[in-house]
Amino acid sequence: MDYDIAVIGGGLVGSSIAYGLSKKGHGVALLDEGDRAFRASRGNFGLIWVQGKGWDFPAYAKWTDEAAGLWPAFDAELQESTGVDLGYTRPGGMEFCFDERGWNDLNDCMARVRTNSDGAFEYEMLEHAELRKRIPEVSSAVIGASYSPRDGHVNPLYLLRALHQRLDAGRVDYLPNRHVDSIECLHGGFELRTNDERLAAGRVVLCAGIDNVRLGKLLGLNIPVRPNRGQLLITERVQHFLNYPTLQVRQTREGSLQIGDSQEDAGRDDGTTTEVMNRLASRAVSIFPMLKTVHVVRAWAALRVMTPDGKPVYQQSSHCQGAFGIACHSGVTLAAIHAGPVADWVAGGNPHPLIARFHPDRFDV
Ligand SMILES: Cc1cc2nc3c(=O)[nH]c(=O)nc-3n(C[C@H](O)[C@H](O)[C@H](O)COP(=O)(O)OP(=O)(O)OC[C@H]3O[C@@H](n4cnc5c(N)ncnc54)[C@H](O)[C@@H]3O)c2cc1C
Repeated sequence: MDYDIAVIGGGLVGSSIAYGLSKKGHGVALLDEGDRAFRASRGNFGLIWVQGKGWDFPAYAKWTDEAAGLWPAFDAELQESTGVDLGYTRPGGMEFCFDERGWNDLNDCMARVRTNSDGAFEYEMLEHAELRKRIPEVSSAVIGASYSPRDGHVNPLYLLRALHQRLDAGRVDYLPNRHVDSIECLHGGFELRTNDERLAAGRVVLCAGIDNVRLGKLLGLNIPVRPNRGQLLITERVQHFLNYPTLQVRQTREGSLQIGDSQEDAGRDDGTTTEVMNRLASRAVSIFPMLKTVHVVRAWAALRVMTPDGKPVYQQSSHCQGAFGIACHSGVTLAAIHAGPVADWVAGGNPHPLIARFHPDRFDV
C-alpha cells in the first residue's frame, strides 16, 4: 500500500481533512488538479458564518455553531505552527434588512436557528438607529440588521496557504496536477489512476468539489452536487470603517472591500458578467454611499459546490468499505470541524453524533 489514506481534491475541504489526518500520524496522499481546475476555495468570500444556518435543519444549526466554535483554537494552532497570520477575527456579523418584510423574515429565521440550536445561537435584531451606532456609514436604505456574535471572517487564501504549509511539513504528500480518472475498489484498499500513474491506498476520501458526482458513482456514493456561480468584486484599499463582516460587503484587514453574494445557475461557466457586477456594485453603494467613488480593482467568479438543500453531505460507502464522500458549500466555516471530528471519522474513529444526519439519503423522500 502506498498510503494509508488518499484524499482527492486539495481545496479547503480536502486540505482541512488531510491536515487533521496528518496530525494523527496517518500517511496521506492529497491528489489535486492544477491551475485550470474549478476551485471554490480560491474564490470565496471568507465568512465563518453561523447566523441563518440550519433554520430549517436543526442538525446543521448545531454543526455550524460547533464548527465556528472550534475556529479560535484552529486559527491559533495554524498560526503558531506556520507563522501565517490568517486574518481571522470574530467580531460578530450583520445581515442587512431593506424593508419590513425582510426584517420580519430575518427575525423569524434567527428565532428558528436559536430553537434549532437548543438556545446556543445568540443574536440581536438591530433597528436602524442602533445599527448606525455600530456602523455610522450605513445608509437610511438599510432599515436594520440581524447581528450575531457567533460570526467571523478570515482570509481564505491565507487559510489554504497555512494548511498546505502544514501538510508539507507533515506526513502528507501533496500531489498537484493529478486528475484522478478512475478508482477501483479492491479487497482491502483502492487503486487510483491519474493522468500518468497508479497509486494504492487503504482508504479514499472524495473531496473533489463538483467532480465528486462522477467519482462518487465509481464507489457507490451518491454525491448530488451542482455548480452555483458567485461573482465577487474587490476594491482598492480604503480607510478602515467596517468592523463587522456582512453577507454583502466585508473589509479585509488590509483595507480592501470584498463585495459579493450573487448566486447563479450558470453550469460550469465561471466567468464574470457586467450585469451581475453592476448589481453587486449598486447594492453596495446603496448600503454605503461613500463607496460611490471607490474603485473596483479586481473581479472574479467561482463555482460553489452546492447540494440540493445547501447542507453538507458526509457519506461512507456501504459497497466499498473505506470510501468516503464529502461535499459542502461552507468549506471555510466548516474547516475546523473537518480537520477535527470529520478527519477522525474517516480515519476509522467513531462518527460525531451529528454526521449521520448529513447522509444523502435525506434527498430520497
Ligand atoms: C463566490 C463564493 C463565495 C463563498 N463564500 C463562502 C464563505 O464566505 N464562507 C464559507 O464558508 N464558504 C464560502 N464559499 C464556499 C467555499 O468556498 C466552499 O465550500 C469550499 O471552497 C469548497 O471546497 P472544496 O475543497 O470542496 O472544493 P474546491 O475548492 O472546488 O476544491 C476541489 C478540488 O478538487 C480538485 N479536483 C476536482 N476533481 C478532481 C479529480 N478528478 N482529481 C483530482 N483533483 C480533483 C480540484 O482541482 C480542486 O482543487 C463560497 C464559495 C464561492 C464560490
